[in-house]
Amino acid sequence: MKLDVDALRYLSKDDFRVLTAVEMGMRNHEIVPAELVDRIAGLKHGGTYKVLKNLLKNKLVHHDSSKYDGFRLTYLGYDFLAIKTLVNRGVFSAVGRQIGVGKESDIFEVATEDGTILAMKLHRLGRVSFRAVKAKRDYLLHRNSYNWLYLSRLAALKEYAFMKALGEHGFPVPTAVDCNRHCVIMSLVNGYPLVQVKQLQNPDEVFETVLGLIVRLAEHGLIHCDFNEFNIMIDDNEEVTMIDFPQMVSVSHRNAEMYFDRDVECIFKFFRKRFNLSGHEDEDDNDDGSESDLESNSRPTFSSITKSSGFLDKELAASGFTRRDQDDIEKYIDGGGEEIDGPDSNDEVPSDQEEQDPDENHIPLAVNMNALHLADQDDSNELNEDDALLTKRL
Ligand code: ADP
Ligand code: MG
Repeated sequence: MKLDVDALRYLSKDDFRVLTAVEMGMRNHEIVPAELVDRIAGLKHGGTYKVLKNLLKNKLVHHDSSKYDGFRLTYLGYDFLAIKTLVNRGVFSAVGRQIGVGKESDIFEVATEDGTILAMKLHRLGRVSFRAVKAKRDYLLHRNSYNWLYLSRLAALKEYAFMKALGEHGFPVPTAVDCNRHCVIMSLVNGYPLVQVKQLQNPDEVFETVLGLIVRLAEHGLIHCDFNEFNIMIDDNEEVTMIDFPQMVSVSHRNAEMYFDRDVECIFKFFRKRFNLSGHEDEDDNDDGSESDLESNSRPTFSSITKSSGFLDKELAASGFTRRDQDDIEKYIDGGGEEIDGPDSNDEVPSDQEEQDPDENHIPLAVNMNALHLADQDDSNELNEDDALLTKRL
């Protein structure tokens, strides 16, 4: 998804006030009635309706009049709320090019005031399942807390909490900088996803390191669950950084062993294929028995690991990620994400790739960075939690 932050610069206080009102309304409405937006925003002289038009024009909200006159945030609207909050906090001041597009996220470079480049990950849970939306709409109405907004926020909070805790335990992960809504800010990894690497000086060493990480995680009570060549970054010195944590589970999860074995298998398979590590386990290659000792010794098994538990509960709760949050997000992961509505499902948004300007990646960073010197930096007119009480009165 192209993130045109220009619009962000021209949005007024009132625009953000109304956008925030729509967000608040979405706590208990899939589509927020226009009157409710108006009541929460509290602008004089019907100002809300004019502002809503402007937000609609900028694709920050979606209009739905099928049941009543109502609005909901689009991903872009949610992006802008998170970005504005983080910019106001001084976390960064410019947004640059897109550096990654995952199945359920978009990753951009951002720059701080002093020119440091960081990575911004915008979580987009539910994006992959628009086809299933219509059939599930009724179900969703009764499961409001499982909407995309809530889940994307949860995924970001989880990622941030895990990144922080893992970093504090010496794991090679990006430095967790900050988090707001569905957005995580972290240090930029200076390297490439392993999947893009065709050659390594020391493939054996990298293999051992990567496998060692799976084992060390389990010793800390955790399983990555998506440990593969897309989520392992490697730099020119062949140093490894692991990324992408929203799907991690505890070793006490009922499918822990299966997830653990799957992570291990992914790594074996990839290194076997890409780097011909024939000395390592290869199930098809076992006939003479000569290599099998080495192979079976080198493959870690779930049962052989001394696991410590409690990591999840204690350390992650400290970052605001609770056991209940974990349960909620696991329900989504276990369900394959099928039943989640995406915010742009009714909009004519083509695939992300099509929207991306192909030249954008080649523009030097400094030129491409969109400085976000917002018109008003103070939050004095931002709505507070009390305003949300209004939603209950309707
Ligand atoms: P997803 O959950 O959608 O798979 P990831 O966290 O794996 O998202 O990120 C997708 C891609 O974005 C990665 O494969 C990587 O190329 C890039 N990326 C993610 N985080 C960083 C980072 N901190 N520094 C540099 N590139 C990153
Ligand atoms: Mg990934």
